[in-house]
Amino acid sequence: MTMSLGVVLHKMWVGARLRCPHCERGRTFSGLLKVNQTCSECGLRFEHEDGESVGGMYINLALAELTTMGGFFLIHGAYQPPVLPHLIFWIVYNVVFVVLFYRHSRSMWMSVSYLTGGAKHETPPR
Ligand SMILES: [Zn+2]
Repeated sequence: MTMSLGVVLHKMWVGARLRCPHCERGRTFSGLLKVNQTCSECGLRFEHEDGESVGGMYINLALAELTTMGGFFLIHGAYQPPVLPHLIFWIVYNVVFVVLFYRHSRSMWMSVSYLTGGAKHETPPR
């Protein structure tokens, strides 16, 4: 597989939609917090090592901080709202973002793992 930027972005998008990075049909989660061990469609094993989900947290926190900082300074510059309520809003936003984005970031990490050869099929892919 050639690793063009287009392929990487596409697979990340597949991950963000909670789909298997290989066949793009199977679901990475079966429920709110339950990770599927393997893909129901092609048999890809999603996570190999304990603690692999930490990578997803990096994606999650990075995006949360980026959007929080960006949003804070954008609104601060445009409207100069009172600092304290504004700050509280973004702290709440940050927590909500991390919770809501949890599955998506973890699934995106599975795509990263797949692209870098970490996620493999234990049996030949169907
Ligand atoms: Zn699959």
